[in-house]
Amino acid sequence: MKYIDEFQDPGLARRLLDDIRASVTRPWALMEVCGGQTHTIIRHGIDQLLPEAVELIHGPGCPVCVTPLEVIDKALAIAARPEVVFCSFGDMLRVPGTGKDLFRVRSEGGDVRVVYSPLDALRIARENPDRQVVFFGIGFETTAPPNAMTVYQARRLGIRNFSLLVSHVRVPPAIEAIMRSPSCRVQGFLAAGHVCSVMGTAEYPELADRHRVPVVVTGFEPLDILEGVRRAVRQLERGEHTVENAYPRAVRPEGNPAALAMIEDVFEVTDRAWRGIGTIPDSGWRLSERYREYDAEHRFPVSGITTREPAACRSGEVLQGLLKPHQCEAFGTACTPRTPLGATMVSSEGACAAYYLYRRLGTAPAARTPQPAPQPPLEASPVV
Ligand code: SF4
Repeated sequence: MKYIDEFQDPGLARRLLDDIRASVTRPWALMEVCGGQTHTIIRHGIDQLLPEAVELIHGPGCPVCVTPLEVIDKALAIAARPEVVFCSFGDMLRVPGTGKDLFRVRSEGGDVRVVYSPLDALRIARENPDRQVVFFGIGFETTAPPNAMTVYQARRLGIRNFSLLVSHVRVPPAIEAIMRSPSCRVQGFLAAGHVCSVMGTAEYPELADRHRVPVVVTGFEPLDILEGVRRAVRQLERGEHTVENAYPRAVRPEGNPAALAMIEDVFEVTDRAWRGIGTIPDSGWRLSERYREYDAEHRFPVSGITTREPAACRSGEVLQGLLKPHQCEAFGTACTPRTPLGATMVSSEGACAAYYLYRRLGTAPAARTPQPAPQPPLEASPVV
C-alpha cells in the first residue's frame, strides 16, 4: 500500500498545491464530509493555502455533533435510573442535553462510565448480572460494525442485561439531502475514507451521476486532503462527475465484507433525525426485529421524550456548510469548549471546536464577517 508521505517524496505538498493553482479557472465549493478531515484542514491551514477560488465547506461528518438533542435527553433519563450502568465513549459525556449532561448525571449519583469499546460494556454486563448495562451506540458507518458485533455477542452468550441506545447515521443519504437542499452550494465532495473502508464505494456513483458532482474518497493526512482537492478540482474543471478513490491504501471498492455482514445481520435501515439538520429518510440504522430486545429505547420508558433544539445555536447551518463557525455570534464568547451551546463545540471533531482551537486568536466573533440569514432545517425543504 502506498502511503502519501512528504518524507518519502519531499516537495509533494508544494507540487500538489501548484497543480491545484494551475488548474483552477473559476470558483469551486467542495465539501469535506468528515469532521476529522475538517480538523486536519483547519489545523494545518490547508484552506488558507488553497487558491481563493477553492472554498472548503465543512460537512456534517462528526458523530457527536449530529446526534440529536432528543437522543441525548433519552441517554440522560436512562443513565439516571438506579438500576442502570450507563457506558459511553468519553466525548459524549460533555454534550449538553436539555439542562444537563452525562457528567452532571454522574455527579448526581448516576452510574455513568467511560469505556473504550462496546465490548467493555458487555464485560461489565457479564460481571454485574443484577444491573442493566446500556451502551450509547452513536456514530457513522465506522462505529456501526463493533456495536453490531457487541449485540450479536450479547445474544450469542445469552447476556440479557445489556442493551444499546442506538443513534447510528449513514453518509450517502446525508449527501443526497445536502444536494437536494435549495440553499446547497456544494459542487464536489471529499468523501470520508474511513467510512468507505467499511462500506466500499458502491453507493456513490449513482449520487455523483444524479447530482453531477465529483466524489473523491479522501484520507485524513494533510497530503491526503490536498490530493482529494486536486482530483475534485480537476474533475470540475473538465466537467466530469465520477467517483475516484484517492485513499486506496485503506479503501477497497467492496469495503469490508465481514463488517458489512455484521451490520446486515444486526441493523436495519431507518429514518434518522440529524441534530440541527432534521430528519433524513433512510439515513440511519436501528436494531432489527431479531435483536429488538437489546434496544434500550424498548427496554426503558423513554419513547415519549421529545426535545426542541435551542434557537441560539446555529450548528445546523454550520453542519450544512451555510455558515462558518466564527460567523456565529456566540462563537468564542457565550460558546466555548468549556461552555458549549451546541455539539459542534463539544466534540473534538466538531467544526466549531476546530475553529476555536486553531483560529480564534485571529477571529473576532461576529464582527469579522457578515451574518448570513438563518436557514430552515433541511426537513423543511419539500424536496427532502
Ligand atoms: S459556536 Fe457554539 S452556538 Fe455557535 S454554532 Fe457553534 S456550537 Fe452552536
